[in-house]
Amino acid sequence: MLNRLFGAFSQDVGIDLGTANTLVYVRGKGIVINEPSVVALNQKTKQILAIGHEAQVMVGKTPSHIVATRPLVDGVVSDFEVTEQMLKYFIDRVHKEGFSLLPRPRVVIGIPYGVTEVERRAVEEAAMNAGARQAFLIEEPVAAAIGARLPIQEAVGSMIVDIGGGTTEVAVISMGGIVASRSVRTAGDEMNQDIINFARDNFNLLLGERTAESIKIEIGSAFPLREKLEKPMRGRDLVTGLPREVVINDEQVRRALSKSITTVVEAVKVTIEETPPELLADIMERGIVLAGGGALLRELDTLISQATQTKVFIADDPLTCVARGTGVVLEDLETLESVLLSSALK
Ligand code: ADP
Ligand code: MG
Repeated sequence: MLNRLFGAFSQDVGIDLGTANTLVYVRGKGIVINEPSVVALNQKTKQILAIGHEAQVMVGKTPSHIVATRPLVDGVVSDFEVTEQMLKYFIDRVHKEGFSLLPRPRVVIGIPYGVTEVERRAVEEAAMNAGARQAFLIEEPVAAAIGARLPIQEAVGSMIVDIGGGTTEVAVISMGGIVASRSVRTAGDEMNQDIINFARDNFNLLLGERTAESIKIEIGSAFPLREKLEKPMRGRDLVTGLPREVVINDEQVRRALSKSITTVVEAVKVTIEETPPELLADIMERGIVLAGGGALLRELDTLISQATQTKVFIADDPLTCVARGTGVVLEDLETLESVLLSSALK
């Protein structure tokens, strides 16, 4: 009882700990933090210099002893201590903005499907050390589906494809649980790398990661476009060593991205092949839903629809689906408790 009363006042938070972006949802307020999952570290002293946006602007521009790292590359916690520091920083910020006298928050965190018990425990411990009163974990595809308002607790099949920075996660969900799924380590980051490789192999041009990403976002596509797009890209000429600008068009970018995109499409097809027929009938009727930043790649919906012979929809605001999903769970922990992963710490 006291716990309930307490809970009503605490600033409970939902966290999408993404490989590319971390979002924090505060109960009753909505998304209050949306920053890159980047930490700038002084390698000599191990001191953290900046987190989030502030650290992002340092990527590729730091002196050699300062590294801007992404502690969650590939969707798993590759650097436990740094992840914990990042979580603590974001949780503290929310907690301090409210009254710091309030009870410490309960935290719901989205983690990639299929992470090991050890990794789950690591995230839970990080959240507790970062100041959470209680930490609950939810599988990201489930959170994304809740955020996209799919009826995941009903006995109907819903299919969600979450294309993030490090991983693409495909899941068929029914009655609150994952029935069939695939997770591949091909997503937005690899597409950026594809563009870097393409520029190197075809133009002898060395691009930075952020330049490659902006080309993907501004003119990238998965399927031929009605109008031609092009964009100048700047980098270092690998022959002369000097700066050079080359104009690249949508057809070239599409070619560069094709292998990664095929991997994503294959993951969807394999998951469909493993889905029981009754649920497939539901998916045919309701369509496949795309979430995550990669869902915004031009015409990816068209390509997946053609490859699977199924309707495809892009979730509203795909970059915030997981965070909003953790928020829906927070607002109604009693009803949605069954979709949470049982605690690894108990
Ligand atoms: P994560 O959950 O792994 O943090 P996000 O869902 O935040 O990932 O998505 C980040 C990825 O989405 C990045 O690779 C980014 O380049 C990509 N992205 C964002 N906007 C677009 C866009 N308009 N077109 C293509 N890719 C995009
Ligand atoms: Mg994500």
